[in-house]
Amino acid sequence: MKKKNIFVYRRWFVGIRKHFGLSKQVLLFTLIAIIGLWTAIGIGLSQLHRLADTESKIELENLTLAFSEEVNSSVNTIDLSLIGLRSHWIRDRNGFRQIISRLQAHLQDDVSFQVSIVDANGKLVFSSADPNAKAIDLSDRAHFKIHTQREVDRLFISAPVLGRVSNLWTIQFTRPIFDVPGHFDGVIVISVAPSYFSRFYHQIKLGESADVTLVRTDGTILARSPREEDGIGMGTKIANFQLEHTGPHLTGSYLRASEVDGIKRLYSWRSLPKFELTVLVGQAEVVAFDRYREQYGLYIFSGIGMTGFIIGIGYFILASARQKASAMAALAESEARWNLALAGAEDGVWDWNIRAGTLQLSRRSREILGVVEEVLPATPEALQKLVHPDDLLHVEQALIMHLRAKTPNYKVEHRVLASEKKERWVLAKGMVVRRNENGEPVRMIGTYSDVTSRKQEDNANKYRAEHDTLTGLPNRHLFADRLRQCLLRAKRENTCFSVIYFDLDKFKAVNDQMGHEAGDLLLKEVGRRVTECLRDSDTVARIGGDEFVVLLSTINTEEHAVVVAQTILEALLKPFSIQSSQVSIGASLGVATFPSHGNTEEVLMRCADEAMYRAKADGRSRVSVHVNQRSGAA
Ligand code: GH3
Ligand code: MG
Repeated sequence: MKKKNIFVYRRWFVGIRKHFGLSKQVLLFTLIAIIGLWTAIGIGLSQLHRLADTESKIELENLTLAFSEEVNSSVNTIDLSLIGLRSHWIRDRNGFRQIISRLQAHLQDDVSFQVSIVDANGKLVFSSADPNAKAIDLSDRAHFKIHTQREVDRLFISAPVLGRVSNLWTIQFTRPIFDVPGHFDGVIVISVAPSYFSRFYHQIKLGESADVTLVRTDGTILARSPREEDGIGMGTKIANFQLEHTGPHLTGSYLRASEVDGIKRLYSWRSLPKFELTVLVGQAEVVAFDRYREQYGLYIFSGIGMTGFIIGIGYFILASARQKASAMAALAESEARWNLALAGAEDGVWDWNIRAGTLQLSRRSREILGVVEEVLPATPEALQKLVHPDDLLHVEQALIMHLRAKTPNYKVEHRVLASEKKERWVLAKGMVVRRNENGEPVRMIGTYSDVTSRKQEDNANKYRAEHDTLTGLPNRHLFADRLRQCLLRAKRENTCFSVIYFDLDKFKAVNDQMGHEAGDLLLKEVGRRVTECLRDSDTVARIGGDEFVVLLSTINTEEHAVVVAQTILEALLKPFSIQSSQVSIGASLGVATFPSHGNTEEVLMRCADEAMYRAKADGRSRVSVHVNQRSGAA
């Protein structure tokens, strides 16, 4: 059974932990803290209880002492009155009533009492209440019988008796009367209302349900407050009363439920052995501890509050720990994924801590960049050491644009200054992953990919796409592009440029006589010779079989273009040495100039072409300048 319970608790514990996602340690800590807290509260409460108990006891003991003194003096007074009245009775029965009246006049305010005399046979012979009282038989009354049994002159106090005539509760204080020879001659009785003893109750403040009781040694209740007028408990015997009062002490205290009204009280008692009486003062337990009720409430309320706080703290610690752990796990997972992906892609990773000014490089990044240091200072100087000078500006601009959040990411291809001689191209990609509250970048991470071979292939493709395979000269497309650029610049800067279109004369004959290969060699040599005639900024392109076009990017005068055309012609008129043979050809050249002959590429090309045909028509091996229709007509 016990074993089963342990399993049940264990299941609860695990259940709670799983339900709230709590870790065992923190749950344990929280439980210990709560247990510790409530143990401390328990100790505090029991101390309060003890304090309340002690204070109530002291208070009750003091009241009991006062009450017992009061009872002692009251009973003494009654006893002395009994002795005095008895002497009067023996001495002068006729003047007896007068003496009593005098005595009552003295005491009337405080106490009402009756004096009776019973003769040796138990017959009432005198009653202060009724001068004509009948001689009723009282021989069965305890206060009479006791004196017939014991022949000593001692005070007897009866249990409360309900008057047969008056219907009022009274206590009889009696002493025996002896005649001159010393024989029993009756009993003198003073009847006092029980309230005489409990009037003390009204002067004390012990809260609701307080109880002041006067008890005979045999446990019979003589007087009791409150509500003594109802006679509640009057004359009843308290069970085990003797037992509780045996012992050397004449005083003590105990906690018990009243046999009369069932209310649990803290009682203090004191015995008066001379009269075989005990006084009891009781205060309801609830009232006794009432003075600390507020503190109790405060303790419990604070305890509940603190418990809630501890649980809250525990939950907060766990929640943040769990959040952190899951964030760490997610980060580790994502980093693992990235590492795997990057390793597969053969990419290197870089991590730029902008605030710390450090650039961390992965192994592959170091290989690509040709550096050995794992961490580099992230300075402009360090960048200069890594990036090819021709690409540096490009890289810096792309970087600045992204750092200023002008671009969604950083992506640039550039050459690096790797230790080896070979040119190496990298594709650098990156992104700012953290910015501060002012939007300034704090951390940027990215990758390096070695794109050298792709870049070389791209460049070769581009070269092929833009150049003539045979001569290596720019082809029609590249020429068109350069012409467009040149036109834009000339318009912008208000300058002049010229296009020289030329076709070889009688080239076909070379092919026919010496073969196609010889023709090819000649075409190559033509390209070389023309290039030599030009400035670096000029372009010569092969645009057809034996057709070429030259772009003079800047000219001062139209004549200058004609001079260049003449130079080209002269160069081409010189014999060519092809396959150990001397070959002579010529060329017909047409010149058109911007802006005088046209202001678009098409018009300029057509003008040059037309001029070239005119040169052919005019006999070949000559230069012909385009002539505008109107000026030509003029
Ligand atoms: P014209 O004086 O009127 O210009 O006549 P032409 O002999 O130069 O012949 P034309 O310009 O009409 O034709 C050019 C010739 O060039 C035609 C072709 O056989 C030859 N040709 C074209 N492309 C190549 C080439 O790539 N290599 C060689 N060897 N010959 C070519
Ligand atoms: Mg030709």
